[in-house]
Amino acid sequence: MTAYDPENIFAKILRGEIPSTRVYEDDETLAFMDIMPRGDGHLLVIPKTPCRNILDATPEQLAAVMATVQKLARAVMKAFDADGVTVQQFNEAAGGQEVFHLHFHVLPRREGLPLRP
Ligand code: IMP
Repeated sequence: MTAYDPENIFAKILRGEIPSTRVYEDDETLAFMDIMPRGDGHLLVIPKTPCRNILDATPEQLAAVMATVQKLARAVMKAFDADGVTVQQFNEAAGGQEVFHLHFHVLPRREGLPLRP
């Protein structure tokens, strides 16, 4: 397992070194809008503590992040009058991960409307 790199983009967002559109924050997690949304309301949920991906996450980090994912999944259902919500998560480059700080995508979905690539 590769070590956590504190210079990854989401670590910089957490430290306030680069801008983000924050939509939710608590003691353990942060959520902000994806900069290249694949649909309206596409947001990302991350733990505030260092974590590369699900492979090195602690049960506590996962519990905190998933609690926020559920909260925001329910919120986007209402806010976007959605028919459903897609939750996505990638691990390591071969698994599709591009930013190496644990994150979950939350994507409100409308019936018959595909995600953008
Ligand atoms: P993943 O690691 O494959 O889940 O992809 C990283 C995600 O982070 C992509 O959806 C990017 O659009 C998003 N992303 C990359 N840089 C930023 C940023 O600075 N702010 C918000 N989202 C970002």
